[in-house]
Amino acid sequence: MKSMKVLIIDDDVDSLAIARLRLKKDGYIIESAGNGEEGLVKASDWNPDLILLDVQMPGRSGFEVCEELKSDQELCNIPVIFLSAADDISEKVRGLDLGAVDYVTKPFDIFELRARVRAALRTKRLQDLLFMYSEVDSLTEIYNRRVLMERLQQEWDRTLRSHSVVSFIMVDIDKFKNVNDTYGHPVGDNVLERIAYILKHSIRSGDIVGRYGGEEFGIIMVNATAEEACIASNRYRYEIELEVFKAKKVVFSITASFGVADSNGKNTVDELVSSADSALYKAKENGRNRVCSVG
Ligand code: GH3
Ligand code: MG
Ligand code: MG
Repeated sequence: MKSMKVLIIDDDVDSLAIARLRLKKDGYIIESAGNGEEGLVKASDWNPDLILLDVQMPGRSGFEVCEELKSDQELCNIPVIFLSAADDISEKVRGLDLGAVDYVTKPFDIFELRARVRAALRTKRLQDLLFMYSEVDSLTEIYNRRVLMERLQQEWDRTLRSHSVVSFIMVDIDKFKNVNDTYGHPVGDNVLERIAYILKHSIRSGDIVGRYGGEEFGIIMVNATAEEACIASNRYRYEIELEVFKAKKVVFSITASFGVADSNGKNTVDELVSSADSALYKAKENGRNRVCSVG
């Protein structure tokens, strides 16, 4: 299991040193900051799994830092435990209302602090796991359709801003129903996993692949015209064609058809996707195992 990262933001050198030393012994990776400003920069650069945050600090108070963390889309899911000298109920309530998960009174009992850190990190691990499951398709372990479409919208928006171009490729396995009918559903599942693996490892870094539907995949090619995406698609098509599958001592291969469209001349993401879909339809009509683009 990967080591969890804990950021301690505290101007009190002694309490920081104790926490740092003790938590390091527990196997966490520790970073520290002596004030709120520095802490916010480290949080954003380092992306910790937990932040221990002192309430009373010169400059920005712990409450202000927490407010900033919680209003930042990238940082708001990092759990925060407040550390404070004051054993004041209203302060604890304020801290928890600002989104902190817990509160430890200074001078802290190191056993209590360690237990609270463990508890917060247990929840963080579960939260990360849930987030990951919500984004990937469970069979193929690539992005699911929702995330694929969200990413396409993001790339589309970026393309508009930078006057660039983005391509969308729809991939559909040919005669896949035959694979299920001939070799059984589990073999079909295995084929889907392998195709996803091939696509994931064939695309350029920065491009994105996801499972669009049953035996359909989508690829977002950033900064690529349809012409460039067709060249890449032919490479992917070839990789798939070369793959050898085995079932019940029988060896077989499969092919896939590709529909390509780029953002040029399109007004919406939906138009881009439906153009790629029409191109795929054309590839099927023209005999399968081929790449087509519209226009
Ligand atoms: P075409 O060349 O026209 O695309 O033919 P096809 O047989 O691939 O297309 P069709 O749409 O008729 O069949 C798709 C099949 O994909 C039917 C469905 O049972 C199968 N399928 C969809 N999702 C899964 C899955 O998760 N696992 C398995 N094993 N099969 C799936
Ligand atoms: Mg299909
Ligand atoms: Mg198919």
